[in-house]
Order: sequence, then structure tokens, then C-alpha cells
Amino acid sequence: MAEPIKIDKEALSFRDEVLNTPGGEHLLRCFACGTCTASCPVREVDENYNPRRIIRMTLLGMRDEVLRSDFIWHCSTCYTCSERCPQGVHLTSIMRALKNIAVREGIIPEAYRMQAKSIRAMGKIYEIEDFDNKKRARLGLPELEKKCPDLEAIIAQGELKDLK
Ligand code: SF4
Ligand code: SF4
Repeated sequence: MAEPIKIDKEALSFRDEVLNTPGGEHLLRCFACGTCTASCPVREVDENYNPRRIIRMTLLGMRDEVLRSDFIWHCSTCYTCSERCPQGVHLTSIMRALKNIAVREGIIPEAYRMQAKSIRAMGKIYEIEDFDNKKRARLGLPELEKKCPDLEAIIAQGELKDLK
């Protein structure tokens, strides 16, 4: 038989951390109806993906398991669960809160780390090359800038500048 999960002070502190992170405020409203899981398009392609389970694990204070789970990164931010949740839990925002906590802990999948670094360096996920602008010119489209100076000023004030 599996070991019972102990909800100790440490577990409760993770729950509070999520509740105090922007987006996580409505965590305690969940009554585990499963509407989110039944509605989720990611679940349709991956039967192991279960947003309700992520909420339960969060409420049970399974900090490490939640923050190291690929699942929080698989959410496509489609907002279907938020629209349909009868309790107004705003699960999409909770997923965002969990990702933000994970990033603060340095837990970030390599693909997202690379994208964040590209945004920091260029203001874009993909590098704009001469080739792209030549193609655009042929189509009569304006040239794209390779960097975004306005964004540099914004990044300088946020946490993205510290990403390793
Ligand atoms: S739909 Fe809302 S109340 Fe139901 S399990 Fe999902 S988050 Fe909880
Ligand atoms: S927002 Fe995320 S968890 Fe919610 S239904 Fe869409 S993919 Fe699923």
C-alpha cells in the first residue's frame, strides 16, 4: 500500500506560497470536480495530463513534484478550464503562478530558457536574418528590426535580466 501523504507545515507553506503568488489566489476554491481535466485540449492528446491532479498535488503541498513536473509547462494557456470551472479557480493563472515559482527556483526547461534568452538579447524568440528581410522586401513588406531597444529598457527593470 502507498504511504499516506503527510500535510505538515512545509506542505502548507507551499500552498500559501501559491496563494500569495499573482494568479494563485483562488486555489482553495477547487472542489475536485474534474471539469478542467475533462475540458482540457492537452488532455485529449496526452491522457496522462491532468490539471485537476496538479491542483490536488499543490493543495497537498507536493512542492518538489509539482515544480519539477513537465506538466506545468504543457499547459497551452487556452483558458478553457478557467471558462468552465464552476468554482472560478482560474486554473490557467495557477499554472502561470506555478511556472513563475519554478523559474524563481531555477527550474526551467531548456527550450524555454533558450527562448527567454533570445527575447532578452533581441526582443524576439527567433533571430531576424538578412534572408528574412530580403524575402519580406520581395513581398513588399517593411523590414523588421533585428533588435528591440524599447524592450531592452523593460527587461532591465525585470527579473529576466538575471536569467542564467
Ligand atoms: S474545474 Fe475547477 S473546481 Fe473543478 S477540479 Fe478543476 S479547478 Fe477544481
Ligand atoms: S489552460 Fe491549460 S490546463 Fe486549462 S484547459 Fe487549457 S491547456 Fe488545459
